[in-house]
Amino acid sequence: IVEISGLHKAFGSLEVLKGIDLQVERGQVVCIIGPSGSGKSTLLRCVNLLEEPQQGKIVVNGNEITHEDVDIDAARRKIGMVFQGFNLFAHLTVLENLTVAQRKVLKRGKEEAERIARENLEKVGLGEKETSLPGQLSGGQQQRVAIARALSMNPDVMLFDEPTSALDPELVGDVLAVMRQLAEEGMTMLVVTHEMQFAREVADSVLFMDGGVVVEQGPPSQVIGDPQHDRTKSFLERVL
Ligand code: ATP
Ligand code: MG
Repeated sequence: IVEISGLHKAFGSLEVLKGIDLQVERGQVVCIIGPSGSGKSTLLRCVNLLEEPQQGKIVVNGNEITHEDVDIDAARRKIGMVFQGFNLFAHLTVLENLTVAQRKVLKRGKEEAERIARENLEKVGLGEKETSLPGQLSGGQQQRVAIARALSMNPDVMLFDEPTSALDPELVGDVLAVMRQLAEEGMTMLVVTHEMQFAREVADSVLFMDGGVVVEQGPPSQVIGDPQHDRTKSFLERVL
């Protein structure tokens, strides 16, 4: 459902992605691991068209989003993104946070948008919080709201960029549990994470990036359990 080929991205003279190839099948979970600065966030941001690559092709659900004539807004609508920070609207209630884009972008009516919002709040275990403001929730709850908000747009694929790395350790588990449940329901997910246990248990495929290239990719039992490259080994020794 996601096909990336020959992707190059530079910021000025700094080459950040040096020819990335990646295929994600529908319903697959691909975890991206690698050291700081290796280009993981830049890769996800290219898939969501937050960055424009210099070279290469990205096709999402049959739509070539790197084509010069692409309707960026239409393409982005089908791609959910959850960041490290939660990016919720502080002055809107949880329910309003989930309905605003549904109404503005998808032109759903109020009742339909609220029904879908409530379904997704239930799914992330926050059915009781719809009238709260984001500031009244814990970080883990806010991140689950952000996930529910992305889901309310019925994305073809969900991108996660270190969704738990800003959270207190005791809040990480709830967010990972929601992500695990999504994976089990068959959501296609591309997840940048330092949670090796999650990657081991949930990923269909793990991709290790370093210096803007894919060094190694395969099932978690191979890439995490039995890495072949020295760079992967030394990275894993530092994080495990
Ligand atoms: P981390 O694990 O720390 O989040 P990362 O693998 O996500 O790292 P990126 O954020 O993709 O790394 O950054 C890769 C490189 O690109 C870094 O050297 C970074 O400084 C640089 N970079 C990222 N965004 C920009 C930008 N908008 N302008 C200039 N340089 C950038
Ligand atoms: Mg990053």
